[in-house]
Amino acid sequence: MNWLPTRDAALARLEEFLPRAGRDYAATRNFDRGPERRSNVSGLSPYLRHRVVTEREVLSRVLSRHSPVAAAKFIEEVFWRTYWKGWLEHRPSVWKRYQTELLSAVEALSRDDDIALRYAAATAAETGLDPFDQWSRELVSTGYLHNHTRMWFASIWIFTLKLPWTLGADFFLRHLLDGDPASNTLSWRWVAGLQTRGKIYLARPDNIARHYQVPFAMPEGLTTAADPLSEAPLPPAQPPTLPARVTAVGRVGLLLTEEDLSLDSLPDAIAVKGMALPRRLSPLPISRTVVDFTCGVVEDAVRRAAGRFNLDRSDIAHGNDAGREIVRWARQLDLDAVVTAYAPVGPTASALDALEGALNDAGISLLRRCTDYDRCCWPDTTRGYFQLRKRIPALLESLAVRRPEQHVVKPGGRHARRS
Ligand SMILES: Cc1cc2nc3c(=O)[nH]c(=O)nc-3n(C[C@H](O)[C@H](O)[C@H](O)COP(=O)(O)OP(=O)(O)OC[C@H]3O[C@@H](n4cnc5c(N)ncnc54)[C@H](O)[C@@H]3O)c2cc1C
Repeated sequence: MNWLPTRDAALARLEEFLPRAGRDYAATRNFDRGPERRSNVSGLSPYLRHRVVTEREVLSRVLSRHSPVAAAKFIEEVFWRTYWKGWLEHRPSVWKRYQTELLSAVEALSRDDDIALRYAAATAAETGLDPFDQWSRELVSTGYLHNHTRMWFASIWIFTLKLPWTLGADFFLRHLLDGDPASNTLSWRWVAGLQTRGKIYLARPDNIARHYQVPFAMPEGLTTAADPLSEAPLPPAQPPTLPARVTAVGRVGLLLTEEDLSLDSLPDAIAVKGMALPRRLSPLPISRTVVDFTCGVVEDAVRRAAGRFNLDRSDIAHGNDAGREIVRWARQLDLDAVVTAYAPVGPTASALDALEGALNDAGISLLRRCTDYDRCCWPDTTRGYFQLRKRIPALLESLAVRRPEQHVVKPGGRHARRS
């Protein structure tokens, strides 16, 4: 699989995968057959991560091809992403805690030779544990790992190599094209036994042997019993403060960020600008593959918006100076308001907070727009995933994601549900 940073490539991937999104997916999704034979999963995550295609679009296309029963597994997986995003929105301190612990773990690398050596071996694919080294190489060279492999990798990292989980989550975030503060941090926490208290995920040799269908030699000494990691209790969940629905007036500029590149229901604007990777995701360098892909999808969205709405466009702002560049752009165009998508917990949200202050100082407002999808789904993400899962049919109904043939137009124009 390879990922071109365009919406055209995302739509082509979706259409190509569609026939296999039903029962085939449910039966085969757990097998990792290696990068050359990965047609059993969609490979859509780098695009969904940045909303180059939206969850709603993917779900609608899948339900146009399969019944809700046949597509249930795939739909549930898309809702795992929704769940992690919503869960972290209710507990932003978990992201802050991760960042603080990561900084200490990175600092410890310069003091503790033993950890530094094990960390260097794990990230350079030189541990001597055959499948683990294959996965480490694959991650760095392709920017992707299969879900089951991510679970084995994280488990071996934490329980066999006994490395800090935050360093592993950071290694993923710096190399995954779909690297996401919520899905990544919370999945690593889940493997470590922090997310579902007391329940860890252990990579078992028989499970790897069955599901990893690439030639490899099973290593000796994988840890097969371990205690969960522990931490101080988390603060209680708080509903996120989502922006009110307001209409921008006057001279409006559109700011597209890597958090949401869909161009749904955008306001009238006179210009568009992109912002990519405005804050460092990590104290360590981000891979070139991730930087190029992220900047690429933002550039593609800016081009699409400029073409579709006949807007002036300018280059994308990237890196530490992004905020200053956007303020300059907004002032030069004499904007009254900059409109952007609501950014969930993570570096873009922090960058937007800082940008808002700087724009306000220049007399320009920053308006964030939250999608109906997030507004509708996040209230069901306060507890466990199964709370959200049982609400999936109702959520699909409220979001009007349904099979087209479920509705027929009666004579007289009224819609009626087929039984
Ligand atoms: C340790 C670990 C770290 C992870 N880090 C990330 C990450 O940074 N970003 C990320 O998008 N996913 C992450 N995942 C979840 C999952 O591995 C990927 O979303 C999935 O492998 C993407 O491949 P796909 O698009 O072919 O998935 P498919 O199987 O085709 O699934 C369709 C879509 O559903 C969503 N999805 C599927 N499984 C999950 C899941 N377990 N959690 C959340 N969403 C899911 C993705 O958006 C995916 O594109 C992580 C999982 C683990 C165990």
